[in-house]
Amino acid sequence: MSTTSTGSPATARPWRASGLALREIKQVTVSMDGFEVNSYVIHAPEGDIIVDAGAEPQRILGATRAPVAAILVTHGHADHVNALDFVRRETGAPVYMHPADAEGRVPDYEPLEDGQAIDLAGLGLRVFHTPGHSPGSVTFVMGDDQIVGDLILPGSVGRTDIPGASWEEIEESIRKVMPLWEEDTRLYAGHGPVLTAAEELRTNPYLPPGPS
Ligand SMILES: [Zn+2]
Ligand SMILES: [Zn+2]
Repeated sequence: MSTTSTGSPATARPWRASGLALREIKQVTVSMDGFEVNSYVIHAPEGDIIVDAGAEPQRILGATRAPVAAILVTHGHADHVNALDFVRRETGAPVYMHPADAEGRVPDYEPLEDGQAIDLAGLGLRVFHTPGHSPGSVTFVMGDDQIVGDLILPGSVGRTDIPGASWEEIEESIRKVMPLWEEDTRLYAGHGPVLTAAEELRTNPYLPPGPS
């Protein structure tokens, strides 16, 4: 694949090593009035991490098997945060979110910023600010895999015809995460099945062309 950076030294991406530590990501598809949205439960070495909580909080919590160390939010749209209060109350875990989507809407959160490396429950992850679908959208990178929220969807990308969205920004954001894709990279999106980057590169017409 021309868009991967297989040849670059591993030291250029120090967070990769820790992201490769034992972990498992479980997709939990919940229904918000018949509209399906994904949450993810990451079984990290020292606890669980919940990503997004849009609806059916009991089902999300039911997918955990260890104390929840953190709740990560990919972006602030209702279908990703409507069950946040419930999940936070039940777990007592801190909520990590980008200020551009959290400010004035979500009380008491840990602000995420572009390029930040965080260690949660023994799992190292890297945060990329990837606006375009919403101003505070972020992508979480663990090893070669990425939790992309609504940045990239099966055969498509997040909507940019809504308030706060921008096609120019989403294109730039996708260009930011694509160079990290490897042949076996999985993309955990906000809606639909778990994707493989290789398959999206072959079939998704909305992805910007890679560097030639
Ligand atoms: Zn959204
Ligand atoms: Zn969504």
